[in-house]
Amino acid sequence: MADKLNIEEIKKNKDGLDILPDLLRYAETGFDTIPPEDFALFRWYGLYQQRPNDGHFMQRIKVPNGHLTSEQLRTLGNIAIDFGRNLIDITTRQDFQYHWFTINNIPEIYRRLEEVGMTTCGACGDITRNVVGCPVTGITKDEYFDSLPHAQAITALMVNNREFSNMPRKYKFSVCSCHMQCAQPEINEVGFYGVKKGDQLGYGLMVGGGLSTKPYFGAEMGVFVKQDEVIKVARVISEIYRDTEILRKNRGQARLKFYLHDPKIGIGGEAFLKLIEEKLGYKLEEGVPNPAPRDAETDHLGIQPQKQEGLYYVGIGVRAGRLTGDQLLQIAELVEEFSDTKTGRTTNKQNFIITHVPEAKLEALKQRMDEYGFDYKPSIFKRALVSCTGIEFCNLAVTETKEVGRRVSRELEERFPDASRNIRIHFSGCPNNCGQNAIADIGLRGMKTKGPEGVMIEAYDILVGGGTGNDRAFSEVAVKKYPGHDIATAIGNLYEGYCNWATGDQTFRDYVRAHTKEQLEAVAKNLPMPEAVEQPVPTA
Ligand code: SF4
Repeated sequence: MADKLNIEEIKKNKDGLDILPDLLRYAETGFDTIPPEDFALFRWYGLYQQRPNDGHFMQRIKVPNGHLTSEQLRTLGNIAIDFGRNLIDITTRQDFQYHWFTINNIPEIYRRLEEVGMTTCGACGDITRNVVGCPVTGITKDEYFDSLPHAQAITALMVNNREFSNMPRKYKFSVCSCHMQCAQPEINEVGFYGVKKGDQLGYGLMVGGGLSTKPYFGAEMGVFVKQDEVIKVARVISEIYRDTEILRKNRGQARLKFYLHDPKIGIGGEAFLKLIEEKLGYKLEEGVPNPAPRDAETDHLGIQPQKQEGLYYVGIGVRAGRLTGDQLLQIAELVEEFSDTKTGRTTNKQNFIITHVPEAKLEALKQRMDEYGFDYKPSIFKRALVSCTGIEFCNLAVTETKEVGRRVSRELEERFPDASRNIRIHFSGCPNNCGQNAIADIGLRGMKTKGPEGVMIEAYDILVGGGTGNDRAFSEVAVKKYPGHDIATAIGNLYEGYCNWATGDQTFRDYVRAHTKEQLEAVAKNLPMPEAVEQPVPTA
């Protein structure tokens, strides 16, 4: 409902950050006293009405760079148990998301979060969302330098700052320096990625990326941003975006990506760089080619040695990001007991990593994880599965996603017990792309279709060939409206087709490009393969 309101008008009358006292007051006066325009501003504190709008809320909690202490994890787990029907999801921005909150409990929930230094401020709304980053920065051997301080500094600049609390639309940063570029700089409004220029270590910069219904990759700025320039550059880009009035005229085209790429209002990367440099008052150094791998962005799971001698990090595969509060308390306990720094990190593939585990404690940790049922050797169908919220709680959803995603990954594990080739399978319950189906090898987009007896049933468009990295592409539809109850079969058939075809390090995207849409549809449906009567799918 909030989207039908004139959000620009609402923001003119009240800054989103000013909703907090009202929000706390409604906890006293009750759900029925909340006016529609205030529901819209609740988002500035990560609070959304959840389906079916009967007084329950979804609450998102920000976790900058996914970095958490055992104390924070314990608080988060207890909140899920006490107020969220024992349910908590890890999101694709390394946040946590709850459901089933009621307004009367919000003051106590916020009090508990504040006690452990956490905030919901800016988790949704037209404001800077959680700053994402590599979950193993500062500890992996596979990076240029530690990017956590920059992610934290950008967070400190943007959170609770009235200079940036009324942006035209949602606004996202990614900061990472790992060689894998796991933090997806190309699908964020502002993406800083680590580079080496001569003997200097700093960042390359992409601007104007974003998914949703009209996805764009960020434009390469072609510059080298020194580490001590990051905050300055982040600030001027934010000022430019905030002050670009044309973006406030049409909410459907208010993201920064449209100002870079839209055929009508887009000014292009070169002109945008000029705006940045004008505001900075000097020219940025020329950049180096983006060192992203050809196929970027897989998760850093497994048990891996850290750059700190004798320490390891240990990944836990969390199917579709879903945990119970009790499981989070168990994770908190493991972090407390086995991590030297008592820290862990969430990943944007909705998994979790315990960091700083001394080698001498590894076996005991593995034993405890076995005891608790945590998976430190997750299958590829589990570790790279992503799922949005879906019809269970989301007002915009057309289909279920979490449970179907979890079911599909289990069925694929049974069908391919020895699978070794990577595959990213992402579910979104509608065209909004929150499950990032546009950058998945196999992306599922929720639809409805007529079943055998004319009854509407849940279905998915199957999109193929998406991915980030230097071979980046958005997925394209190969099969329309495939029935949901059998979707695991179609996905498995495509995966099998890929494994039978590929040699060496050929990716699923290579497989897609080597076939026509008709051929891929035939593979998915297990039909005879047609001859190639058209050019293979051009996803490059
Ligand atoms: Fe909701 Fe659609 Fe986003 Fe999924 S993709 S969370 S269904 S809006």
